[in-house]
Amino acid sequence: MTTHLQQPATPAPDTAWQDDIRAGVRHVRDLASLPLSAAERAAAEQAAANHKVRIPKPYLDLIDWNDPQDPIRAQVIPSPDELTVTEGELDDPIGDHAYSPVPRLTHRHADRVLLFPTYHCAVYCRFCFRKESLTAIGRGYTSEALEPAFAYIAAHPGIREVILTGGDPLSLPDKALGEIRARIEAIAHVRLLRIHTRVPVALPSRVTAGLIGALQGRLMVTVVTHFNHPREITPAAEAACRTLRQAGFVLLNQSVLLKGINDNVEVLEELCRELMYRLGAKPYYLHHGDLARGMAHRRTTIAEGQALVAALRARLSGICNPTYVIDLPDGGGKVPLGPCHVEGREGETWRIRAQDGKVRTYIEVVADF
Ligand code: SF4
Repeated sequence: MTTHLQQPATPAPDTAWQDDIRAGVRHVRDLASLPLSAAERAAAEQAAANHKVRIPKPYLDLIDWNDPQDPIRAQVIPSPDELTVTEGELDDPIGDHAYSPVPRLTHRHADRVLLFPTYHCAVYCRFCFRKESLTAIGRGYTSEALEPAFAYIAAHPGIREVILTGGDPLSLPDKALGEIRARIEAIAHVRLLRIHTRVPVALPSRVTAGLIGALQGRLMVTVVTHFNHPREITPAAEAACRTLRQAGFVLLNQSVLLKGINDNVEVLEELCRELMYRLGAKPYYLHHGDLARGMAHRRTTIAEGQALVAALRARLSGICNPTYVIDLPDGGGKVPLGPCHVEGREGETWRIRAQDGKVRTYIEVVADF
């Protein structure tokens, strides 16, 4: 469905987001009022014990209840398939805990850290690779809880970027966000604050003047949104992203490749175009499905993912193309899985497959061969 002719919404008042949370699904018992299948109803309570349920009203309103395979519904309504844990799935699929020198911080790469100010989210996504941490740790924000992490960042001058993730950092009140931003920007060697969030997707009314004010300061701010399907790109999401852009924040988007939700070249093509052309959010990563427990039914094969990104590459400009990556278990980090276009090499002569599928020769010309 192409949505680019819809009028963008005007910015919401500063308190509308709290009403949107109250009017949505906040507990598993709230699912009783929804037109779920008998199987979904039976599974909901058990599945919710492993991963909480929360669906703000704006996201709930996007569900087409006449379609049992609706891609919005599939992202937030507990499914009986989640109860099947497949061998090889992991509690901590990308090794956050192994690289955590102090609570609420992961330091995997020299120049950046992940900081977890809260383990709560505005929406709980069934596919979340941190769902075990959200359930097991589950704590919200307190400034005391972050003190060891701030001290660690201050003691490591190689850290240039602090990535607020979680949990969803933008589910915090403005005051907490302002405190966190001020503590980080007081550390002179930090240059960039990155925020990973589903809020512009599921609770766009949260993007208020107060939120912008809490985040503006010395640091370059990059907001990495998490849209997975073009139906999530609504006038309200567009208004939220415009507000973030006009504040001077850089917008990127990461999506997860999800079987039955977006593993289709037309869906991904429309998603990537609308992200860039309508939201001004550069498609950054397309993640291969992580080894989160109970998610085998949403994982594609790597070969399927590679075929999809090869097709996307032929359809989309470079600025609209995301990088297909796998986040390796045991903290190996993200590795691109996209096709290699180099077919071979003899000395300075390279054989390279072009976008039209033909292999061409490229001879390197440099001063000192
Ligand atoms: S918002 Fe992010 S951290 Fe929270 S459940 Fe969804 S994917 Fe996980």
